[in-house]
Amino acid sequence: MRIFDPHIHMTSRTTNDYEAMYAAGVRALVEPAFWLGQPRTNVGSFLDYFDSLVGWERFRAAQFGIRHHATIALNPKEANDPRCREVLSEIPRYLLKDGVVAVGEVGYDSMTPEEDEVFAQQMQMALDAELPVLVHTPHRDKLAGTRRTLDVVRESGVPAEMVLVDHLNETNVELVLESGAWAGFSIYPDTKMDPDRMVSILSEYGLDRMIVNSAADWGRSDPLKTLAAGKAMLAAGFSEDDVDRVLWRNPVEFYAQSNNLILDPVPGFQPGEPPAAGVEFEGSSVLRGPRK
Ligand SMILES: [Zn+2]
Repeated sequence: MRIFDPHIHMTSRTTNDYEAMYAAGVRALVEPAFWLGQPRTNVGSFLDYFDSLVGWERFRAAQFGIRHHATIALNPKEANDPRCREVLSEIPRYLLKDGVVAVGEVGYDSMTPEEDEVFAQQMQMALDAELPVLVHTPHRDKLAGTRRTLDVVRESGVPAEMVLVDHLNETNVELVLESGAWAGFSIYPDTKMDPDRMVSILSEYGLDRMIVNSAADWGRSDPLKTLAAGKAMLAAGFSEDDVDRVLWRNPVEFYAQSNNLILDPVPGFQPGEPPAAGVEFEGSSVLRGPRK
């Protein structure tokens, strides 16, 4: 099974996770910029984080044979803090960097006027940078939040096929598919969505524009939930080709719209061997190993 995890926060994960993910078939992933749990108090805190997403974490993933990409945005939760909103003027330059494949996560948390404004501004940035957008749907009031999200997408002028609406469930999948956007599902240990519910949704709505992720972060989560979803699909009678479509070809097709995906094997990587210190990447100087 080859796996592209289209939403996982590796900054919060360990090297054991990277090794287990490689063994499970993960060869590429996307790490969206999000909030850190602890609120940020200034713009510099965002910039160091963005730099680590496009630099250090990309290097770290490559040491374990995994191609790392990022999405960059001011997340909906921190859009409500005036100290954080100043980062908006810095975001366009990050959208040009190697390995940045979308604007995200954007969307709604509590659906405040501030969130409206920041969401719309970042949709415009995606339009200007010709990048796809990763949209987070709120945990509370999901259906209303999804409706409003899709309205903002329509008004933005960003084509629906350039938008992935994430953290969906049985209540809002139809709405998203009808809009022409891609539908993302986060498989979590005890909330959101589990592998069996995921299989039921795929049986009901088909595999078109369907994307599955682990969304693993600093909370209780599991970076191998993508594999679990693939196994549950096989057990339910889906073919290997169906699994490949959902776990690899679909997310690749979506993020390839950025023209910034790298999917070939990491040069010099040997599974099971200690990470090489100086793995180098085409077209990037940030990604040389740390000096010891
Ligand atoms: Zn996330």
